[in-house]
Amino acid sequence: MSGIYIHIPFCKQACHYCDFHFSTSMKKKDDMVLALAKEIVMRKNEFSTEIIETIYFGGGTPSVLTTDEINFLINTVYDNYNVADNPEITLEANPDDLSTERIIELSKSPINRLSIGIQSFYEEDLKMMNRAHNSAEAINCLREATKYFDNISLDLIYGIPGLTDEMWKQNIETALSFGIPHISSYALTVEPKTALKKLIDTGKIPEPQDEVASNHFMILVETLQKNGFIHYELSNFGKENYFSKNNSAYWLGKKYIGIGPSAHSYDGEKRGWNIANNSLYIKAIQNDELPIETEILTICDRYNEYIMTGLRTIWGVSLERIETEFGLEYLNYLKKQSQKFLNDGLLSIENNIIKPTAKGKFLTDGIASDLFYLNAE
Ligand code: SF4
Repeated sequence: MSGIYIHIPFCKQACHYCDFHFSTSMKKKDDMVLALAKEIVMRKNEFSTEIIETIYFGGGTPSVLTTDEINFLINTVYDNYNVADNPEITLEANPDDLSTERIIELSKSPINRLSIGIQSFYEEDLKMMNRAHNSAEAINCLREATKYFDNISLDLIYGIPGLTDEMWKQNIETALSFGIPHISSYALTVEPKTALKKLIDTGKIPEPQDEVASNHFMILVETLQKNGFIHYELSNFGKENYFSKNNSAYWLGKKYIGIGPSAHSYDGEKRGWNIANNSLYIKAIQNDELPIETEILTICDRYNEYIMTGLRTIWGVSLERIETEFGLEYLNYLKKQSQKFLNDGLLSIENNIIKPTAKGKFLTDGIASDLFYLNAE
């Protein structure tokens, strides 16, 4: 199973917390679409023997493209790759782009999954984070999207300063009231060089508190599990048969090609990343060059990656796989490093699989970094 990720590096406005690669100027949009299509063609030989099971438009804000532009890119994939019969084709979309008319138009395209950036249903949160949509648009787009799409995911952010436990519960309940089958939810994090960091440093916004985020996370897990969602990855919850195939493939170490500026690729041995600059990306592609840097993953890199993704997912970390794929040295190291977390009830071993316990879940990333092997070859 392999996937194609297409990065659309444009947003209407910059959300205060965001450090992804995007531009708020649409001037180069036409050239970008042509460059993306050309990169799709240029890289077809990388996947000559692979079957594409997922196509994912991420960003940025892919819904700023017209449906014709999206169809053009999907057709370019179909014309150049072996695409499975019923691939998962996801479009990340923001509520302000999802009018009823647009949703109907998208439902007639090959897109069969929407991932909608709701983040919060409260006007004050949306304003504080500088989202381009308002609360009414969040509600309306879900009401309409659920009429035309069955496979919908929405994003919610927790740990926002001023968001009380009660308000957070209400955000989750509102999301659930639409009957959508998948939710991704992340803590508000303060990344360097973002507007949010500046606003906090200058005292205009209070700093998000870990304890609040941890409470919100517990409320989230409990509420969604009660409502039939499976907590299949630290930040992802899906009803049965609605896990994101695209994201699950990343976590299970499957191959993918990342198209577009800043997009990452993985072929089972090497990781690659495209230049994170729209003009330089377009120029390189126009000159028939791939603006990509690559690195071959060492055994240590692959072990660390498996620890991180394994602990974050319901599939856990298999001690048997550690031994067969990485050897006894890594197995012994993992057993030694994990002992204190096992003693503290933060990790458990069942059927030779290590996983975080309910108590350890919120601390997963920190635990994983303690299990990393640091002596790179
Ligand atoms: S819409 Fe998404 S990618 Fe764009 S600025 Fe906001 S969070 Fe970042």
